[in-house]
Amino acid sequence: MKLKKYAWLLFAAVFIIVIIFAIKPGKESGAEANPIEEPIQEVEPKFYLTLPADTLGFEDHTISSGESFGSILGERGVSTSIIYSIASRIDSVFDVTKIRSGVTVKIAKGENSSIPSYFIYPENAFEYVIISLNSDSIYAHKYVKERTVKRKVISGTIEDALYLSVNNAGGTNALAMSLVNIYAWSIDFFRIQKGDAFSVIYEEEYVDDTTYVGLKRVLGANLIHSGNDYYSFQYENELGFDDYYDEEGRSLRKTFLRAPLNFTRISSRYSGRRFHPVQKRWKAHLGTDYAAPTGTPIMTTADGEISAASYTSGNGNYVKVRHNSTYSTQYLHMSKIKSGIKPGVRVKQGDVIGYVGSTGLATGPHVCYRFWVNGKQVDPYKQKLPEAKSLDSTSLAAFKEYSEKLIQELGNN
Ligand SMILES: [Zn+2]
Repeated sequence: MKLKKYAWLLFAAVFIIVIIFAIKPGKESGAEANPIEEPIQEVEPKFYLTLPADTLGFEDHTISSGESFGSILGERGVSTSIIYSIASRIDSVFDVTKIRSGVTVKIAKGENSSIPSYFIYPENAFEYVIISLNSDSIYAHKYVKERTVKRKVISGTIEDALYLSVNNAGGTNALAMSLVNIYAWSIDFFRIQKGDAFSVIYEEEYVDDTTYVGLKRVLGANLIHSGNDYYSFQYENELGFDDYYDEEGRSLRKTFLRAPLNFTRISSRYSGRRFHPVQKRWKAHLGTDYAAPTGTPIMTTADGEISAASYTSGNGNYVKVRHNSTYSTQYLHMSKIKSGIKPGVRVKQGDVIGYVGSTGLATGPHVCYRFWVNGKQVDPYKQKLPEAKSLDSTSLAAFKEYSEKLIQELGNN
């Protein structure tokens, strides 16, 4: 009986020991693994422009029309007297009345602050005005982001308008506009047709590597019009000025622009005889009409001096420019003559002298461009116009070596 009892106890003890060992966690379970070491984190302080972003909360606000610097801050708890003192203390750097609707500003607030600490106004894609609103330290300073230049090559065929084709090839309107300006003297863009092609090497500016700022310059281009190559290369002439030259170093610039405005259509060419749409009779049309929306800027096609800026019932508001003893040009039907344009004022080629309208005898908004040679009106497109200076023989060899490389690159694309 006694033995049986001990045997039972022994059995129980063994059983308990087995149980204890069985549930003892093994090494593998990690019970005695080292505590996880916290990696030493190098916390980089974050900045927005020059502001400590870690301690600030940022709000994006797009200015709507009717809002002012004062109303934006007033709504956020800044008192009128502080707004006034901010505006007057920073006016040498930033005129707060110049803020434009549609611009998205950033308003930064400190963690424990009830009113904003900074107002950040972007003047463009790379220039910012940072205004500190803290009443004990009010200031404004400009911050300019570093810009990087990317070189690009694109080409395409012209399907429709030049700027659409340039856009389709990955270019911008600014690039198309630049091409129009470069070729303004040598190609009549009104005659550009489907099947013409272009190839262009250019530089664009970016900030933060990917945000487009704008076109920097066109280095070279080829416009293939009616099967002919029209090359242009930017090159610095012996006087130190950049200009555009063809592959022979001849200036692409003429003393006259081909048209007094960009991107329009000719609605009526110079002719000895046409049916006048207002007077309803056949008479000579001694000008070239360019239809364009009212308000489109009209440029003088060459350097000169204003000889008339006036109004007649036929011409409407008009300006006449005397270029030299041989040439004058005249621009009719303006909605408005540009302020400051009056007889005796000197103008440079491309200067705006007025705006498209339909004053005088006109059916719709257009500019009637008239070209005078020795006191007689002629068709400017039939004139052999004087050219600007070509590259000097001293720089021609270096220019040809340079342009040859670009021609290869344009052709390969
Ligand atoms: Zn006309």
